[in-house]
Amino acid sequence: MTTVALKDVTKVFPDGTVAVDNVNLDVADGEFMVLLGPSGCGKSTVLRMVAGLEDPSSGAIMLDGVLANQLAPRDRRIAMVFQDFALYPHMTVGDNIGFPLRLSGVEPQPRQERVADVAAALGIGDVLARKPSQLSGGQRQRVAMGRAIVRRPGLFLMDEPLSNLDSGLRAELRAEISGLVHELGVSTIYVTHDQAEALTMADRVAIMRKGVLQDVGTPTQVYGKPATLYVAAFLGSPRMNLLEASVYVHLDRYVQLNLGEQSLYLRWDDIRARAVSHYHGERIVVGVRAEALMPVAPDTPGDVLQGRIRYLEHHGHESLAFVDIGATAVVIDELGGAPAEGTDENGNRGLRRFGHVLSRLSGRATP
Ligand code: ATP
Repeated sequence: MTTVALKDVTKVFPDGTVAVDNVNLDVADGEFMVLLGPSGCGKSTVLRMVAGLEDPSSGAIMLDGVLANQLAPRDRRIAMVFQDFALYPHMTVGDNIGFPLRLSGVEPQPRQERVADVAAALGIGDVLARKPSQLSGGQRQRVAMGRAIVRRPGLFLMDEPLSNLDSGLRAELRAEISGLVHELGVSTIYVTHDQAEALTMADRVAIMRKGVLQDVGTPTQVYGKPATLYVAAFLGSPRMNLLEASVYVHLDRYVQLNLGEQSLYLRWDDIRARAVSHYHGERIVVGVRAEALMPVAPDTPGDVLQGRIRYLEHHGHESLAFVDIGATAVVIDELGGAPAEGTDENGNRGLRRFGHVLSRLSGRATP
């Protein structure tokens, strides 16, 4: 199979556009890596450089530990799947799937056998004689997948392969694709701007912005502990609450987090206090997910913030409360999330989980 490593890879187009800016990224053997980011952030350019369709301006692209910058696309053992599927309309499904085998000179008999196997694995064995125009969107997507896997590539490159499908089918196919790819054990780089796709399909997610890699990690890591404020604001719905606070350590007995009009006092034996104590005297941004905050009665003792509920939003499976804590607006999952790591379990807390320190701000803290 295949490992991929991008080392200090930059792509500047002739018009001066810096599409990819010093990206370092490793894809392990058999890993499903999702490149996520808004339109124009450079995801497709990364993919095209790995495919050999675009040359990096600087840096190295390594395949299986070997420098591949000069390697022709056909020598990279790569199969690509695009959003428009790029099927040949005049060919049958069977001929479309078998096309890469025909190109590499495989005889008709073994070719047909291999096509039949692949089509059966994808559940499209009964439509081999049809033309693409006689298929549903989901079937066309499967044919495109079939054509990609038929030659047993070492690496799949997929560029928004589900974006032309309706949302129900997308959800169904994303489970199917990641299941199939994991079953085959083929390393995959999958480009999308859809975070639900990224978080549900990926082994690891790489988040890009304006050509720069912002964060790489498992879906749980990038969702729970985003590396930058940008990722915190980009991932998740509702977005992560971002609270600006000044940190003040009081004679090592408790830590005060001054949020402006209110302070949160964390006892020293609370691991959340220790997590921020080394920011003494600094202003920080704390990221707290809605599901980590829990509403309690106003007179609840302990480290509780007083908030004013502006409105409630009911979503069927959850209700969100939009709350003002002084000048800061936060979103709370009304029912409260499952107990999170590092929380103490004595229940009545306004802020059940402290969250994740995202950034140091300039300026001195005031107690
Ligand atoms: P999308 O999700 O819209 O496909 P993307 O994240 O895949 O976006 P890219 O297609 O990689 O982004 O483009 C990154 C940047 O490079 C964009 O600003 C784009 O306009 C620019 N770009 C892409 N191809 C070229 C080119 N051939 N010449 C000049 N600029 C280009």
